[in-house]
Amino acid sequence: MYLQVMQLTRFTDLGLRVVMRLAVAAEGDRPGSRQVAEELAVSYTHATKVITRLAELGIVDARRGRGGGLAITELGRTASVGWLARRLEGDGEVVECDGAQPCPLRSGCRLRSALRRAQEAFFASLDTVTIDDLTQSPTRAVLLGLPRPADTDFQFSSAIGE
Ligand code: SF4
Repeated sequence: MYLQVMQLTRFTDLGLRVVMRLAVAAEGDRPGSRQVAEELAVSYTHATKVITRLAELGIVDARRGRGGGLAITELGRTASVGWLARRLEGDGEVVECDGAQPCPLRSGCRLRSALRRAQEAFFASLDTVTIDDLTQSPTRAVLLGLPRPADTDFQFSSAIGE
């Protein structure tokens, strides 16, 4: 049995970071994905993957070209962290029962169902928190104080990719 500690994947954490950053952007300020990646100290490749997923979910409005860039949507501001985390995490369980070496207990395992309930409780605890909640003090000041990249020309480059 391979048991993962119940934690968010890096993909989900990065997605939440991007959304928090966009939530404090001033009206009309639409940073590009490269700028956001630099500010959050993550790879551009990872950032574009998660931004693409956030756009598919309707959390981020991503536009290409001059005057384009990224902005959080109304859904993004009001979405619960649990709702978003579930969608970024996918359907994976905290324990791998059916992997390369399937567990012989999997046809009727009470531990598996208990872990499923624990996983749901983990997400449910995040259902009461919205993205807006996450960007209140002191996080807001930290987000607004992130060092801006020196070269802001890419602010107007494509929103999702090159
Ligand atoms: S079936 Fe049960 S014992 Fe086997 S890996 Fe899954 S949770 Fe663990």
